[in-house]
Amino acid sequence: MLATIDIKVTRAANSKLKEIDFDNLPFGKNFTDHMLEADYINGEWKNVEIKPYQPLLIAPSNAALHYGQAIFEGIKAYKDDQDNAYIFRPYDNFKRFNISAERMQMPVVPEEIFIEGMRKLIEMDRDWIPAKPNYSLYIRPFMYASDEVIGVKASDTYKFIIILSPTGPYYAAPMRIWVEEKYIRAAEGGVGYAKAAGNYGGAMYVTAQAKKNGFDQVLWMDAKEHKYVQECGVMNVFFIVGDKVLTPDLTAGTILAGVTRDTVITVLKEMGFTIEERPVSIDEIIAAHKAGTLKEVFGTGTAATVATIKEMQYKDYNMQFDISNLATTTEVKKRVDDIRYGHAADVHGWMYRV
Ligand SMILES: *Cc1c(COP(=O)(O)O)cnc(C)c1O
Repeated sequence: MLATIDIKVTRAANSKLKEIDFDNLPFGKNFTDHMLEADYINGEWKNVEIKPYQPLLIAPSNAALHYGQAIFEGIKAYKDDQDNAYIFRPYDNFKRFNISAERMQMPVVPEEIFIEGMRKLIEMDRDWIPAKPNYSLYIRPFMYASDEVIGVKASDTYKFIIILSPTGPYYAAPMRIWVEEKYIRAAEGGVGYAKAAGNYGGAMYVTAQAKKNGFDQVLWMDAKEHKYVQECGVMNVFFIVGDKVLTPDLTAGTILAGVTRDTVITVLKEMGFTIEERPVSIDEIIAAHKAGTLKEVFGTGTAATVATIKEMQYKDYNMQFDISNLATTTEVKKRVDDIRYGHAADVHGWMYRV
């Protein structure tokens, strides 16, 4: 039984829903009528409220702006054909959020705020969940330090917020990937496993360089030997080699433990594949490409589910993949989507009813 928490609710006077063009929904640009906000003060969470979506008032001395105690999550909600709303695996994101919080010396957020607050917020804005194939409601919980002090120390106060954004189909063209050998995203002992804001700031320069050279994303390598592949932008990466699936393991703590990664591993196993979660070297991938056994390469993440990779460049070596026959990528995406939109049985209990 959940401890109950009082959530103060202030409804928006007017809904913005009618102003939104649901046929044109660029990712993360439109926000629903309401947001959830809570404060961590004197060692406890209080002032939990749902209120109209609105700007925040932040002091110039706000600690998060200076020293980066800021974390986030990305989750999606869907509607089935009977207009029931579901959140996909929110407990996995809840656990990961608190793992990120701990690493960043931030307070954990209780279930009755993260899960029940999210459920209640989505219930209020349920008309914003597009009831169309491939559409969803993107959920962005985040937390930042809110002390107004510029001394370098962990903040004593924090704000937790959830905002919601309706999102359309992710029409990503198959991606061209730059395998980065100089710059790194995360090192052992660092914060790579946390969804901490600074990890993304640190990647922007390198990604911009790759884009200048015609690539869409960076595939990061390990920080020690620059030899083992890690992950790709904000996606985990999978290689289908022969009849096996290879994906980097999470033991070094340098890779984000994607919920989609776990979902895809589960579904691939159900499809009869052997999954090898272990260090995957770029040399092994190149050797498989040369031998003609590297069949499909894809990234996984909440935004795209499964995103096809058509090309990888490592130093002078260019790898092209045949995207005319993506049997496995297509099948795994369909199976995950079928569960999300209620077209297949939810045997793993991944769908959380709003
Ligand atoms: C969010 C994220 C992923 C994907 O995680 P999902 O839970 O599948 O959305 C992968 N890598 C990084 C660096 C991420 O931030």
